[in-house]
Amino acid sequence: MRKVKQEKTRLLPFFIPHIGCPYICVFCNQPRISGQQEMVSVDTIRRSIREAISEQGHKGQWEVAYFGGSFTAIPQEVQDTLLEPAKEAFQQGIIQGIRLSTRPDAITVERLTELYESGVRTIELGVQTLEESMLVEAKRGHTVEDVEQACKMIREQGMTLGIQLLPGLPGETWTTLVNTAVKAGQLQAHLCRIYPVIVIEDTELADRVRQGSYVPLTIEQAIAYSAFLKSYLERKGTQIIRVGLQSTEDFDAGRGIVGGPYAPAFGELVVNYEWRQQIQQTVEDHLEVFGVIHKVIVEYPRPFTSKVRGLKNRNIEYFGQEYEQIEWAWKQKAEDNHTGIVHVTIDDVLYSLGL
Ligand code: SF4
Repeated sequence: MRKVKQEKTRLLPFFIPHIGCPYICVFCNQPRISGQQEMVSVDTIRRSIREAISEQGHKGQWEVAYFGGSFTAIPQEVQDTLLEPAKEAFQQGIIQGIRLSTRPDAITVERLTELYESGVRTIELGVQTLEESMLVEAKRGHTVEDVEQACKMIREQGMTLGIQLLPGLPGETWTTLVNTAVKAGQLQAHLCRIYPVIVIEDTELADRVRQGSYVPLTIEQAIAYSAFLKSYLERKGTQIIRVGLQSTEDFDAGRGIVGGPYAPAFGELVVNYEWRQQIQQTVEDHLEVFGVIHKVIVEYPRPFTSKVRGLKNRNIEYFGQEYEQIEWAWKQKAEDNHTGIVHVTIDDVLYSLGL
């Protein structure tokens, strides 16, 4: 197994909407998710690589990324044509790797070896859920075993393995979510994106919402599910690179969304929730031991201000309402040593918290 490099990587993304997909998954409308309706041309890819790197400089780790669709399910000559400009840039040392997103049942050892020779260093797999019945209901057309096999092959090829999870598909409960988290931890992915299901217009899920046979997650459920997956997988060593869909002009204006927990700053809301849980657990543990609390002082490093206080002070508001009898003080630390540690002083007892 080749050693995988884990460095801060800058991406040059290109979207290949819906090409190569042998099925249409019930939640998917790739052109709307990417905000792009048309296939990108090879000339555009070549020109964009040169322009982006000459504008932003050669320093750092650059990857050209082919997202959307199912790259390795496209006819191979089309894959090779699309890869050509990135492969050239890789061979000239302009970029350090190529990244693809694809389906778990469209991977073979032979193809992975060829892709590695072309410069592909990262593969992100659409896993979505690891609950067999939910994969069937989402019309994914592959099994949990396909996912496990594909992940093993990618890791053994020495590539960086990314997975994408979609909490909130039809049939999701806390039990299915926990099962998915446990199995996802066993996949030993290096990277993960978590996208709670948003119901997008022109999808089967949109029809089901209108018929009343699918109820999307509320924003609170989506935050709780995503925070659980994030912290579970982080403890297993997987880096979470995105939580919540990238905002687009249309989504922000509410166009193209039929339902579900869309929020432009969703990832930030999840981090707010994780800090809220940490602080609340500390308060509850203290109460259990001492029986009473008069005052809580929460002190955070400056870069953590909105993470700990919450967007628009939502955590401050929450604790004020939930623990009315306690006097709360929220302060930026006088000395900021950038350790990322938050101090919570409950009466005279000091606790140190970190995510
Ligand atoms: S989710 Fe992936 S495999 Fe399914 S239709 Fe969309 S792009 Fe294709």
